[in-house]
Amino acid sequence: MRPAYVGNQSASAATILRSKRPILPFFPASLPDESLASRITRFHIERGNATSRETYSELFSTSPFAMSNLSIPRIEALAQRLPGDPHVNLEKLLCEGTLLPISRLFASGTTNRNSIDYGRRSAGESGSTRICLQCVKEDVSQFDTAYLHRSHQIPAVSACWKHGQILLDHCPECGCPIESPKDMTLSPWQGCYCGYRFELAEPGESDYVASSTEKDIARFASFVLAHIPQGLVVNTLPRLLRERALEMGFRRGKEQVDRRSLQTAMESHYTPTLLAQLDRAYANGKTKRLLSFLGVTGVAIEIPLSRLLLLSNYLFQDAETFLAKLTSIQPQVAGTTFIQPPSTGLHSAIPVNRNTDGLNTLVERLAMTAIAEDLSIKDLWRQHYGAMKRITVAGSKNGIEILKKAIDRHSSKSAQKRGRSSAKVHSRDADWAEEIKKTATRLFNEAGRPTRVSFASLVKNTEMRPVTWPDAISFPQTRAACKTLQESQWHFYARRVMWAMARHHGEAVARTVITEATGLEHHRVTDVYNYLIASAIVPIAPFTTQLAANGITRDWLGPCPGKTYQKVGRGYQKTGVRISYTSPVFAGMA
Ligand SMILES: [Zn+2]
Ligand SMILES: [Zn+2]
Repeated sequence: MRPAYVGNQSASAATILRSKRPILPFFPASLPDESLASRITRFHIERGNATSRETYSELFSTSPFAMSNLSIPRIEALAQRLPGDPHVNLEKLLCEGTLLPISRLFASGTTNRNSIDYGRRSAGESGSTRICLQCVKEDVSQFDTAYLHRSHQIPAVSACWKHGQILLDHCPECGCPIESPKDMTLSPWQGCYCGYRFELAEPGESDYVASSTEKDIARFASFVLAHIPQGLVVNTLPRLLRERALEMGFRRGKEQVDRRSLQTAMESHYTPTLLAQLDRAYANGKTKRLLSFLGVTGVAIEIPLSRLLLLSNYLFQDAETFLAKLTSIQPQVAGTTFIQPPSTGLHSAIPVNRNTDGLNTLVERLAMTAIAEDLSIKDLWRQHYGAMKRITVAGSKNGIEILKKAIDRHSSKSAQKRGRSSAKVHSRDADWAEEIKKTATRLFNEAGRPTRVSFASLVKNTEMRPVTWPDAISFPQTRAACKTLQESQWHFYARRVMWAMARHHGEAVARTVITEATGLEHHRVTDVYNYLIASAIVPIAPFTTQLAANGITRDWLGPCPGKTYQKVGRGYQKTGVRISYTSPVFAGMA
């Protein structure tokens, strides 16, 4: 069937055609655990639309919006454009691709407001899109495409239930959020603005390991989401949780739940740090009335989905028992009025000139903002997305480096102004910085397959840790040490190539044997290899010494700075311009 788009029709024809819905030529079928937002991006890519504006207009008749703002009226618009009964389509899209089933379940009975309204707000609570690097890799090899998993987006879930890895909501290189604040999410397919490719990530084995508690929550929540019986809506969740708590001995007097000891037990099970991370009220120190809803009957209080999930997981441990108990309770169907959640005003814009001078001004202005408001790069991405994107697009990853340097420069100036007596610097800053230096030496000289020495790996591999992360105010020396000692991606490539070369030193082997042994992206590795060969480098450890002797320092920008490398997208890149690979010629090459 041809798409029946209505053009300029005469009045009478338009009246007739209005009843005919424009049907989309296709819409990608859902992959296992795929979110609706992800199917929308895949539609955009497969459709070959030049701009996301075209896609949004085709699917929703709106201008672009962030995918965590994918609200019910918009999904309704999409349901209208699919073949078949729009009501059936809507229910299917909601049940299969959104968090609505789990929100409905937990909303019922804990609020007397419209539960769907609550569900919408709870579902969009995180306001970010998360991925598991391992899943991206597997999905690309199994399905020929990356995609977003619905189970990764559940509030209170911070790990992948399948791989036990910490979920990422930002690019590990430049800190850019994976979700665009006003557009569809494209980076898992097309890479980050800075050039980082999620499917090519080579995280070290210990880089993203989640705690066993986090894995537990992830497994519990994703099982519940995947197995909620259709149509099950119970309004007795608080009663169920109360009864279970009493059963477990959290009892005060005859029928009262001992909320204080229950909370203490939850704190020791989850740790206060994790609770603060997963429950905003807890993080803000509002711990007094956290579980108060368990003590009140007949009064409806709105509880965040994440807290209900944590409590259910704690009380029931396994999701099957929890669901079985729920199903045994008389179901009552809730109303289905859909209300659009209010959009957040998080992304205030910083005005800029659109020229290179403008870029410098922008960097300076952002640096000053960062110092004045004590914002990290991640915070800057959250609050000044447009400006950060412009810096990254104009300067690639170096754009962010320039910004970081500007922040350092300005903060040391303002520190000097405040005088050396600043009491905020932590007493162990210097010691920690020393330890970081030792770690760097150790990591760079480690035998075996080199892994990238980054800011994060330096902190993680150093035993001494006064806090979990060195912030700019308390740990200036530690941060400075991490920044100067970390290596660029290209320097890391060079070390990995040296390692692969060393394994075959003295043998006559084909170039591809070496480049493939590195396990890194082919074209980049080939260029690095050719460059090192042209430099007549001797692949003997310590590699850093050999590299430095050839002018390759930790901040090396690669053999061909500025060269655009082909993105390694598989399939779904039909509209992308192909960049043909040409091997560069380096001085000294035969
Ligand atoms: Zn995973
Ligand atoms: Zn990035």
